[in-house]
Amino acid sequence: MDVDLHQLFTRAAAEAARHRAAVADRPVHPSPDQGSLDAAFGGPLPTGPTHPDRVVGALIAAASPGLVGTVGPRFFGFVIGGASPAATAADMLAAGWDQCAYNEVLSPAAAAAERAAATWTKQLLGLPGSASVGFVTGAQAANTVGLAVGRQRVLANVGWDVARDGLFGAPRVAIVASEDRHATIDRAARLLGFGTRSIEPVAATAQGAIDVDRLRTALDSLSGPVIVCLQAGNVNTGACDDLRTATTLAHEHGAWVHVDGAFGLWAAASPRTAHLVAGIELADSWGTDAHKWLNVPYDCGLAFCADASLHAATMSYAAAYLTGSGSVSDPVLGDLTPESSRRARGFAVWAALRELGSDGLTELVDRCCDLARRMARRLESGGATIHNDVVLNQVLVSIGDPARIDGVIDAVQRDGTCWVGGTTWHGRRLIRISVSNATTTESDIDVAAAAILAAATAVEQSAG
Ligand SMILES: *Cc1c(COP(=O)(O)O)cnc(C)c1O
Repeated sequence: MDVDLHQLFTRAAAEAARHRAAVADRPVHPSPDQGSLDAAFGGPLPTGPTHPDRVVGALIAAASPGLVGTVGPRFFGFVIGGASPAATAADMLAAGWDQCAYNEVLSPAAAAAERAAATWTKQLLGLPGSASVGFVTGAQAANTVGLAVGRQRVLANVGWDVARDGLFGAPRVAIVASEDRHATIDRAARLLGFGTRSIEPVAATAQGAIDVDRLRTALDSLSGPVIVCLQAGNVNTGACDDLRTATTLAHEHGAWVHVDGAFGLWAAASPRTAHLVAGIELADSWGTDAHKWLNVPYDCGLAFCADASLHAATMSYAAAYLTGSGSVSDPVLGDLTPESSRRARGFAVWAALRELGSDGLTELVDRCCDLARRMARRLESGGATIHNDVVLNQVLVSIGDPARIDGVIDAVQRDGTCWVGGTTWHGRRLIRISVSNATTTESDIDVAAAAILAAATAVEQSAG
């Protein structure tokens, strides 16, 4: 097949650019008929080949009605971030270059990019310069890696080699975590063979940070191996655990401390918010996302570990054919992640950081926090109630009759000016707003707040 690669790739890039140029002016959610999307993609796989130009044309045509404006400035659901121009282009290049970031043999360039991006990230997040960094798919993977390394250590401390002997017959490990932990901790506990029954939930404060007095009581009642999971950035409120006090307590009890900082770890990048994560450097492992607040394309997270050789000993494997393998004392990229074959994510992280610079990152964090507070003020002055201290980029809102809040969320989503999700927080259904996209402006916030208030009014009126 005669393929003009230049034309093919240019078309893909042009389509991506076209989508972005229009994204702020279309409904944030397309609300398509899922059946027709499935039909456009579905049907039997043709037996013969299709020219790549036609494949890409068909993909664009089939996907266009079903694309969500997550890259745009008014998507406030989940903690989505965006995908910055340089990081997106870097990811396109990673695919175009077809680089696998297993080791220096497979991609010397990817190795150098990961190392540089890892060094910068540790500096920006206030983590120890000697920490190891694995470029994983996201915070779920990063939390799983952190807990896996912690499992290795706390069981070794009681004379059990979990890598060799597994968990059958092992002393039980307690995972102490806030009742307001992210659900990925529970999934990691399931995947790693602890089981969710190993989780010892500790009460949280009204803002969703771990109650350190309750943590002390919980630790005092435990005797065996313990992993403490702390959080920087509660997914509802943005609250951060008192990392210094909690980590110090945990270490006094010989526990491993992992911090889930999927988005909240980035608070460290600004002098205005760094106090929220004071003591972060004391932990043993950390997980964060690059695809949230740093605005790197999916899927990209970082797993850090203070004990680099334990990290490598836990995650690496050896095989005779793996040319260029590392060792525990000198690990290769793939010795720090659950998978060996992976896209060279370091290019995109490096590009996102280069694009911003350290001041730009500080400014991005500050701006998102300012915009979250602006959203809270606008909604409050329109009659809404804010349910959290807006310390970071998260806002919890109720408006009107509590029984109709899901109706309001639905109306906001259908209106299309912005997209917000719902959550249940301490027994209440609430609107949940997350500001983490670098392209969001004050006027986006104002337009979105007005749309939320208008939706609430419309729902009240139609309810009579
Ligand atoms: C998003 C999030 C996660 C999970 O991250 P993924 O990137 O989806 O794997 C974990 N913890 C917190 C606090 C989060 O916000």
